[in-house]
Amino acid sequence: MTEKLYYQDAYATKFTAKVLECTEEKQGYQVILDKTLFYPEGGGQPADMGTLGGVNVLDVHEKNDIIAHTTDKPLKVGAEVEGEIDWERRFDLMQNHSGEHILSGVICRKYGCDNVGFHMGKESITIDLNTKIPDADLPWLEEKANEAIWINAPVGIRYPSKEELDALEYRSKKELEGQVRIVNVGEYDCCACCGTHVKLAGEIGQIKIIGAQNYKGGTRLELLCGKRALQDYRKKNDVANEAGRLLSVPGVKADGAVKNLLAERDELLQTLNQLKWKYFTQKAEQVTEGTENILFFGDGLNSKDMTHFADLLLKKGAKRTAVFSKNGEGFAFVLLSTEKDARTFADEMKEPFGCKGGGKPDAVQGRVSTDKKELKAFFEGKGFLIEE
Ligand SMILES: [Zn+2]
Repeated sequence: MTEKLYYQDAYATKFTAKVLECTEEKQGYQVILDKTLFYPEGGGQPADMGTLGGVNVLDVHEKNDIIAHTTDKPLKVGAEVEGEIDWERRFDLMQNHSGEHILSGVICRKYGCDNVGFHMGKESITIDLNTKIPDADLPWLEEKANEAIWINAPVGIRYPSKEELDALEYRSKKELEGQVRIVNVGEYDCCACCGTHVKLAGEIGQIKIIGAQNYKGGTRLELLCGKRALQDYRKKNDVANEAGRLLSVPGVKADGAVKNLLAERDELLQTLNQLKWKYFTQKAEQVTEGTENILFFGDGLNSKDMTHFADLLLKKGAKRTAVFSKNGEGFAFVLLSTEKDARTFADEMKEPFGCKGGGKPDAVQGRVSTDKKELKAFFEGKGFLIEE
């Protein structure tokens, strides 16, 4: 049974311990000590990392009260080694774990629901609640949770007797056996937990809900606490300010300015399309009645424009119409044929012009890598009238 030093002092970072076992494993070495400060993954809290006798601790697990450290190099059995945990990582996990308890406590009390899932990810923390939380309640719940920070509520940890436990109202994800560890944060939460926690809620700094979604009939909340919340605020503040600077409005009004910009863009696109149709109609009217095959060269046309224009020309009585539009190094094109030989043209352009694309016997579209001169010569040879 490994002595759990992290339960004696959650703020201790260095310790000395004796190496009892060291075995080679797939991912490195498994080291067992007589005592440790390294918290093993459990209760939703990830494992500590750090160094042990000069080697790196990559992961820590607990099985049957024995804590196994995964290291990148071996340690001598029987040696006394110094260990040091990555305190920045641990404190971040403590801030987020304690913050999660407070928010879960506030929510579960308000709705009489349960926290049925808890995950501390690299980016954010998620908690799953078996009730639907109305979006309108989120700001209130968030403020209520932060109130624990503002009053600097104490975080207490105790091991009640069975009788005390029976009389206690506390949150727990499962039926617990043996000694139960109770973590309470003032009047805000009381919960069975095996994780490490801050001593005072003030150390959490901030609890921020950054997302909420329906999940398995309940709600999944995404949250950030402590430094993570500050870093997230900084990033979002920078984004809002930069968007505001680009749009010449204060950052907090960037969303409204973007909406206006999108509406303006839609109006301009509509006008542009109207002008395009007008232009195509005029061009099509200029084509002499009875022209059998016609090719039009355009610029900056998309495939919808090209199809529309080729169709207009077809309606003038032509049998084959093609529209080519300059596109990068080559041309994009649409070719329509009432003679059902559109594919033949695409096939014939494959070899000389590297034609890519295809379609049906009466319509093909694609792109070619060649210049206007070559295309003109090719289509004039096929009896096409060339227009620009
Ligand atoms: Zn917990």
